[in-house]
Amino acid sequence: MQSAVPLLRDIFGFDAFRPGQAEIVEAVAQGRNVLAIMPTGGGKSLCFQLPALMREGVTVVISPLIALMRDQVRALREAGVEAGALTSGNTPEETDAVWLALEEKRLKLLYIAPERLAAHSSFGMLKRAGVSLIAVDEAHCVSQWGHDFRPDYLRIGELRRALDVPLAAFTATADAETQDEIIARLFDGQAPQKFLRGFDRPNIHLAFAAKDNPRRQILSFAAARKGQSGIVYCGTRAKTETLAQALREAGHAACHYHGGMEAEDRRQTETRFQQEDGLIVVATVAFGMGIDKPDIRWVAHADLPKSIEAYYQEIGRAGRDGAPAETLTLYGPDDIRLRRSQIDEGLAPADRRMADHARLNALLGLAEALECRRQTLLRYFGETPDPCGNCDLCDTPAAVFDGTLAVRKALSAILRTDEWFGAGHLIDILTGTATDKVRERGHDGLPTFGVGKDYSKPQWQAIFRQMMGHDLIRPDPERHGALRMTDVARPILRDEASIILRSDSVAKPDRRPAVKT
Ligand code: ADP
Ligand code: ZN
Repeated sequence: MQSAVPLLRDIFGFDAFRPGQAEIVEAVAQGRNVLAIMPTGGGKSLCFQLPALMREGVTVVISPLIALMRDQVRALREAGVEAGALTSGNTPEETDAVWLALEEKRLKLLYIAPERLAAHSSFGMLKRAGVSLIAVDEAHCVSQWGHDFRPDYLRIGELRRALDVPLAAFTATADAETQDEIIARLFDGQAPQKFLRGFDRPNIHLAFAAKDNPRRQILSFAAARKGQSGIVYCGTRAKTETLAQALREAGHAACHYHGGMEAEDRRQTETRFQQEDGLIVVATVAFGMGIDKPDIRWVAHADLPKSIEAYYQEIGRAGRDGAPAETLTLYGPDDIRLRRSQIDEGLAPADRRMADHARLNALLGLAEALECRRQTLLRYFGETPDPCGNCDLCDTPAAVFDGTLAVRKALSAILRTDEWFGAGHLIDILTGTATDKVRERGHDGLPTFGVGKDYSKPQWQAIFRQMMGHDLIRPDPERHGALRMTDVARPILRDEASIILRSDSVAKPDRRPAVKT
């Protein structure tokens, strides 16, 4: 059987599983009967698509949503996976091509609309085609009492009996009655392995901080937790070594870990971490896959993770024993620039790069959140929780100010210099600082020169960082990282939208209030 993680990366382009996915993928791939209840948007499709690629033979997917099926088939084909659909929207040629591919055993995934199951003749054909798994999306459609009832769904049980293969059922509807009906009708009453897990890990405290002096920030976070087991994630291998050194100098037991180390050294570090109390491992994301230590008390990110999924997975290594655990994630404009350029310079096709930018935006939205972090995080995964009382923003609500005017000034500085400059130069213009570069370019003559004197340079830096976090501006790799305005910013520039920014993450070295009224 092929393993899941390389496929996750190479076929689907994801760097980490979402909460709950890994366990479900494993159970389905192993051929268990599975009932998985996940919130909408939680990433159900991957839980049958990935096992379909891991297993021999073809997986039949039954879904009531024709447009969605066609989308998934298209996306799979673009990723190089043989997939086809039998729906009422097919042309006769399409249908013929699907049957042919099935006969020639080329298909990995076959999507079928439920009404196609009414034609019994297809059962024999499917049996001969080597179907090895049935996946049922929107499984609650089998419930006669639900509002989504589809009479054709009642035939799925028959299909399972005829093919005698494992079945994986997915739904977002969790109530006990619906579950019972699904089990009775799809599994003939034989209890499947059930996955019903909220995504929340309420014992983990969530916190973000703007990078100021990252080494000092991590050292002081660790100092307050001396003697506890923790992980510090870094963006580069070199940084793991220097930071581990700094921690040792501060009197901690600490070692580094990254993919460039000898296998034997890595294994030793893993074993030490597993067995010792109070060791800190400073690592790249290579660390953690095989780690199953229940009492990791804290996880810190010295650099911004890759995506919101990666963030969730990495902080999720803390506090598996259910006792309180703490996290801290540092982020700054350099992280944003780095992550953006990694996406832009990657070889992925355009739509995948767009999706990667969107996932990065979700993480930046979490970093710049104004209210409860957990709400923001879980909403992204499809849940709708109350404020948690266990994150930095519940502890201390963010101080905010209306940043509309400041943002408009910044955008105008960007546009008047033709989107060719970085934050440093733009801030010089805004604050009326006539550097050589400003004078050489004649930027001291611009109408925007000095219009931002009411904020200090560090305050402007925080405003620019938040503008990047809100995806109002993006560094352009083809212009040496010069900041360019995005379409998201247009309504603000035109004064059709306003924006609230955090003022507490704005450094105030000169003690001027961040909020000007
Ligand atoms: P639903 O559970 O509502 O069927 P989907 O399967 O359509 O959800 O997934 C919702 C979104 O999440 C999709 O855009 C998908 O690309 C994305 N997604 C799923 N799994 C992952 C993952 N491991 N990492 C990043 N994005 C993911
Ligand atoms: Zn909270």
